[in-house]
Amino acid sequence: MKKVVVLGAGESGTGAALLAKAKNFEVFVSDGGKILEKYKKILEENEIPFEEGTHTPEIIFSANEIIKSPGIPDNTPIVLAALEKQIPVISEIEFGFRHTKAKIIAITGSNGKTTTTLLTYHILKNAGLNVGLAGNVGESFAQKVIENHHEYYVLEVSSFQLDGCFLFKPYISAILNITPDHLDRYESFEAYADAKFRIIRSQNENDYFIYNADSEIIEKKILKLKPAVQQLAITLAAKDDLKAISKVSYYQNGKIITRLPYNRPSQLTFQESDIALQGKHNIFNAMVAILVAQILGVDNEKIKEGLATFQGVPHRLEQVREVRGVKFINDSKATNVDSVFYALDSFEEEKKIIWIAGGVDKGNNYEQIKDLVAGRVKHLIALGKDNSKLCNFFENAVDITKTDNIEEAVKKAYKLAKKGDIVLLSPACASFDLFKNYEDRGEQFRKAVESLK
Ligand code: ADP
Repeated sequence: MKKVVVLGAGESGTGAALLAKAKNFEVFVSDGGKILEKYKKILEENEIPFEEGTHTPEIIFSANEIIKSPGIPDNTPIVLAALEKQIPVISEIEFGFRHTKAKIIAITGSNGKTTTTLLTYHILKNAGLNVGLAGNVGESFAQKVIENHHEYYVLEVSSFQLDGCFLFKPYISAILNITPDHLDRYESFEAYADAKFRIIRSQNENDYFIYNADSEIIEKKILKLKPAVQQLAITLAAKDDLKAISKVSYYQNGKIITRLPYNRPSQLTFQESDIALQGKHNIFNAMVAILVAQILGVDNEKIKEGLATFQGVPHRLEQVREVRGVKFINDSKATNVDSVFYALDSFEEEKKIIWIAGGVDKGNNYEQIKDLVAGRVKHLIALGKDNSKLCNFFENAVDITKTDNIEEAVKKAYKLAKKGDIVLLSPACASFDLFKNYEDRGEQFRKAVESLK
């Protein structure tokens, strides 16, 4: 009997263990930390043996295969030792893939994964396709395929999950963008980009790959890899030389043109106003979702309906409330500089934004948003324990107020705001100095905004 060890017992590890059990593998779960009650209960109910607070080498090295949760770095001693013993280490996504016949739509990128995954799922489901949703967003993919009743799955995949992918072969893959993030777990930006590109490694000429043609590093990798997969480029820059190429979809003057090339040419046109989501980055995300639907043959009217009825995802440029003409926007999920760029860019070109930012710096370089901040932000409220880097960078560009209390930040922002202004929480930083996580930060922001008189 094949023996599988699952490292880590969160959503993804527990799901993998359940699938292994369902497939009659001998399975053992090992978690170096504490396992949440909810997952412990599932393991017990399914009679899956486990350990927590330790990794027992003899058990782990007796496995034919190890399924590693994405939260466990590759350089963890137990993982390194297993690799040295030539035990294959795979991800839960890879494991799930091996046990389903469903067609996979896999979406990765540094920013926009959740939004694009949910929007794509929404359009396909609304059009009546038999489609499931899994991956980084929501529930474990491995667990979902146990019942195996969907024809399609839309998956949000992170670079950490892709690291453990080998045979994983999406029918449609997408790389939204690659910007500096997670550099604490990758040797270099290049290595991080390589991880993202594992999404296409098993795809062939019958599959599709949607990518961001405005990204230098993505273009560079494609030129180098020359993949066989059918490539569909998207550009927001609408350069004439790009537009002329049939495989390129583009956006220009409020119009969105998406195109399928090769053996099944088709072109769809939408208006920017067809999309309920706000912001340039969301036009890009929507173009990815439209292309997926187009490939799967969803008709135009249904796509339009899906675009119009998708209301967005909490904590991503989410409007919380309007008080006396002042809009409060929760973009707590913006934990890096690139996502703040798109947040600031999505409001009019006037100095109307009161920007709440700060927290735990992830090696930020604020150069990218320097001009936007100077042009659009009228006041910066630095929220966090130590925001010296953020404040030093912007001290000559805008007025700054410092606080480590979110309620105070919201009150101060409201006081400074005039009718027509925007109070934007878009931190560019992680939340751990003051909050449990970005959701907690966003919820506390919402509460503070709701309690304004
Ligand atoms: P992810 O799942 O990749 O973290 P989300 O959809 O949760 O992405 O969005 C994270 C942050 O990035 C939000 O602040 C959102 O407004 C911003 N964002 C969304 N799409 C894009 C994009 N295509 N490019 C840059 N930033 C984006």
